Amino acid sequence: MRSQTYSHSQLKCVSGRDIVLGQMQDWPLLITKFLDHGEINHPNREIFSMLPEGGEFRYNYAALALRARKCAQGLERLGIKLGDRVGTLAWNTHRHMEIWYGVSGMGAVTHTINPRLFPEQLIYIMNHAEDRLLFLDITFVPLIEKIADELNTVEHFVIMVGKEDMPKTSLKNVICYEDFIEAEDGDYTWPTFDENTACGLCYTSGTTGNPKGVLYSHRSNFLHTLLATSGDTLGINALTTILPIVPMFHANAWGVPYAATASGAKLVLNGPVHDPETLHMLIEREGVTMAAAVPTVWMGLLKFLKATGKNCCKLKMVTIGGSAVPRSMIKTFQDDYGVRVNHAWGMTESSPLGSLGSENGAIQNLSEEAKLDIQCKQGRPVMGVEMCVKNDDGEMLPRDGESSGRLMIKGPWVIDKYFKADGGEILDEDGWFDTGDVSCMDQYGYMQITDRAKDVIKSGGEWISSIDLENAAVGHPAVAEAAVIGVYHPKWDERPLMVIVEEEGESIDHAEMNAYLTGKVAKWWLPDDLQKVDDLPHTATGKISKKDLRDVFKDYRFPDA
Ligand code: ADP
Repeated sequence: MRSQTYSHSQLKCVSGRDIVLGQMQDWPLLITKFLDHGEINHPNREIFSMLPEGGEFRYNYAALALRARKCAQGLERLGIKLGDRVGTLAWNTHRHMEIWYGVSGMGAVTHTINPRLFPEQLIYIMNHAEDRLLFLDITFVPLIEKIADELNTVEHFVIMVGKEDMPKTSLKNVICYEDFIEAEDGDYTWPTFDENTACGLCYTSGTTGNPKGVLYSHRSNFLHTLLATSGDTLGINALTTILPIVPMFHANAWGVPYAATASGAKLVLNGPVHDPETLHMLIEREGVTMAAAVPTVWMGLLKFLKATGKNCCKLKMVTIGGSAVPRSMIKTFQDDYGVRVNHAWGMTESSPLGSLGSENGAIQNLSEEAKLDIQCKQGRPVMGVEMCVKNDDGEMLPRDGESSGRLMIKGPWVIDKYFKADGGEILDEDGWFDTGDVSCMDQYGYMQITDRAKDVIKSGGEWISSIDLENAAVGHPAVAEAAVIGVYHPKWDERPLMVIVEEEGESIDHAEMNAYLTGKVAKWWLPDDLQKVDDLPHTATGKISKKDLRDVFKDYRFPDA
């Protein structure tokens, strides 16, 4: 049965009295409240950052808050207004944190851009977002120089370094970040506005077609942060030292930077560095107790630990998500290193926390092996995200651990519509958002991804569009039909395998195909192998049946993996 929604005036009628609203203070849920809290209550708590220009930096929440205010002043001086989009092309650093708070805090929208996108996609999303200003790390200057002429709305480029590290560049209207900050005095009071005001923008390419923008509000980010500090989820608190390896351009680094500020946790930011040796050095030297990343990162760290005989020092918990966590990874972390694995599921459209693998009362007394089986699943829904599995007729399936269907979610930090209404109406008639994941739920409340309805491949936490690869491949005269599927890869979780039917009398091999695709798609999208078949399986409607094709290649392994 649909629930009845009452407006304020209807409430008065129903009750027949004047006051039926609560009488507590109406405090808009703005993300600057985290910063105020950090500055007042945890002023000396440390924030450490590796720098893209080389070297390291260390300061605290009081200094972060001051510089975020200076950043907001600088933006106002440049004419940035409430609702304007401001892009960031940046690693996880203290400066990126200042910009996050500075931009959103003054009422503009922080648009975090994924630098791993193909240049055409970068141009598309920056123009689509109408970014007025771009903050960029020195690493990305060459990338932006190549496409700057096609960025129609960017008025200023702020390079995130000090004067001494400013590069020579062909970019116009360039500002040095440290000059930009130093020009201000920090005497600034955060404005107050409606908590539903847009706060952040993140494009997702996890579906077909052009990337689509997910527009977070202050309210959604605020509520999501409260959740991230709860013990059953990420459990970030004042005593935590957290290393969010997951980039800030990936769904807000899973909410970790906000949650760290809100709880007064020590924050360790690894900048552009992702090699296992440096990550381990940070874990050891900075006393990291929690970290979050995709399986590929942990695969590298576990290999490093095995080869060097080192341990995990103070690390107590790793949150792993973005792709399924292999059972062996959970076991090794827990049995060999005493580090609990928190298996998380989420997506850009859900801010991203949706379900996490902490124990509940129903599984508490199961055997260790049975608990491990459950940890391999994608966790149980967090409070605030409702989850169900529906069949193709829109009927809800039972939580029996077997009935598999489309994973649907709803909640106050789940998407309502994409930016500029791309994709139109995206909720079903009952308000559920279709995640594109195929899953089942068990009797204990844990969700398991069993397949993916969306036609994409996830390699090391980044999306590869099968459709774009297929469209590019069929442009070759030797190709009659092409399909691309994701196949397990020990380092990258999944890599693309291209399967083709050749035109009669024509022939093409893997190297020729990759040479042909080069320049048409990102280099890291190139298929790891090419297989030839006489026919591809098709559905009743004539589409290539990826499900059947995945079945055919279920035992296939890449030659060099
Ligand atoms: P993120 O940046 O957090 O990876 P995306 O929106 O790019 O978010 O990707 C979300 C998708 O990633 C999900 O819909 C699902 O297909 C996949 N995914 C996320 N977490 C897991 C997980 N633990 N196991 C399997 N797939 C996952």
